[in-house]
Amino acid sequence: MQKTKTRETNTQLIDRSARYAVEMLSGTGGTRVHAWGLTVEGSTVRVSRYDASGVMQSYPIDFISKFPRFAATIVAISLFDRERWGVQIAVDYPEGAPFIPRSLSGATVSFSHGSEKHVATVEESIFFQHKIMFGRCTSIHQARGKTIGDYALTIKFSQVTASRPWTEKQILDIASAAPVPHLPEVYGCSSMPAMSKGVWGAVYFADAAAVEQGTASADVSSTGAKYDDRAMTVLVTRLYQPLKSLTKVEEFGKAFIETVHGHHELYEKANILHGDISHANLMYWRDDQGVVHGILNDFDSAIVLNAEKEDERPLELLHTGTLPFMAADLFVDDASGRPKRYRHDLEAFTYVAIWCGSRYPAQQSGQALRNWELSIETTNAWCTGLFYHMCTEKKHIVWYMDAGGLFFTPEISALFRSVRMIAGRMCAGQANLRKEKYKDEEAEPRFKAHLPGGFDYDFFCEWYPYKCQCCNVKSP
Ligand SMILES: [Zn+2]
Ligand SMILES: [Zn+2]
Repeated sequence: MQKTKTRETNTQLIDRSARYAVEMLSGTGGTRVHAWGLTVEGSTVRVSRYDASGVMQSYPIDFISKFPRFAATIVAISLFDRERWGVQIAVDYPEGAPFIPRSLSGATVSFSHGSEKHVATVEESIFFQHKIMFGRCTSIHQARGKTIGDYALTIKFSQVTASRPWTEKQILDIASAAPVPHLPEVYGCSSMPAMSKGVWGAVYFADAAAVEQGTASADVSSTGAKYDDRAMTVLVTRLYQPLKSLTKVEEFGKAFIETVHGHHELYEKANILHGDISHANLMYWRDDQGVVHGILNDFDSAIVLNAEKEDERPLELLHTGTLPFMAADLFVDDASGRPKRYRHDLEAFTYVAIWCGSRYPAQQSGQALRNWELSIETTNAWCTGLFYHMCTEKKHIVWYMDAGGLFFTPEISALFRSVRMIAGRMCAGQANLRKEKYKDEEAEPRFKAHLPGGFDYDFFCEWYPYKCQCCNVKSP
């Protein structure tokens, strides 16, 4: 009983310290990659290190009976340089920046493009930052490079699992060799050493006595949950705008189907499955004639398949993706036994079309406003509550579209009708998936790229009212 109570107190203290760490990591404009915390309990102190991979915590150090050890820890911390304080060092900070810089504004990234060396300078604006402590913690910044041409740049910082076999740049290199259209133009890429490297050792003291007795391991990771090490990667690309910001339906329609085309070519020609289709990963740019062009972005979850379009890695226990757009059959209880397939991404594209269509444009008053709010409520149910509930809501899309729970404004009714057709065929395939028990593993449709009676890329393009520019120019 006593023990439980002690643990509770400690947990509360760690919680408070962790909340402080979240504030520090997310509130500093992308300049921090890890944070430190001290948890004092009675006469002992624990040192915790928080980063995108998790929490590492030292054994309690008694600062009365083991004062020399405690003092050594404090001295070690006081000698920290920027890197050890957790300042992200993938950039060079401007002259005169504080020891722990407040923002990345003015910081520079050096990269090679072909045989030339370039420098990009981060501008003030942050497009996007994940306000969570664990995970990729992606932050995307606008930048300029004097020598790289007329276009503005984006610099994306993300903390990629060190065990991931491909960098985003490697995936895009495979794709551009294929070649695959509608992909971002990459100017440079760099990866930093794994985040835990060297840093943790500075203050970590294994409890030598406990190790000798066999009640603790000298292994750092033994103090916490599995530590999946991460490395900061930096990707410099041309600046693109999110597709969802387009206000003309013809422009949205064209750019959207181009991203679907790019995704299909990526799968067919380069054996790469994107794996994380969301409204945040579909982008566009506008050429000198004012024509928009769709760009499929963000390859941090992409999978390089073999020639048989199989993922050779062990199956993931948890499928990753962006919640409102994840395929319904990746949610179910035994989803861990299901590989991610082409149809899952096509399903996500369908959800993106419905998500964006039902939010376009904001309605001001009367019945139109009520319809608009109802549609947003319907689609918000794809990412709130229990997984089971989200899955059920997605299976009922066609019902919602027919019964008036999901509206598009009258000016985009053509888009609504076509998306209704696509969603109808998609759901028919899913219904077949549930109908039968398959004795033969090989015949199991859930392992296939497409479901019997379901939709595919050709069906999608046939019913979608807008055409991609390069579809009309068939290569010989
Ligand atoms: Zn195309
Ligand atoms: Zn095309």
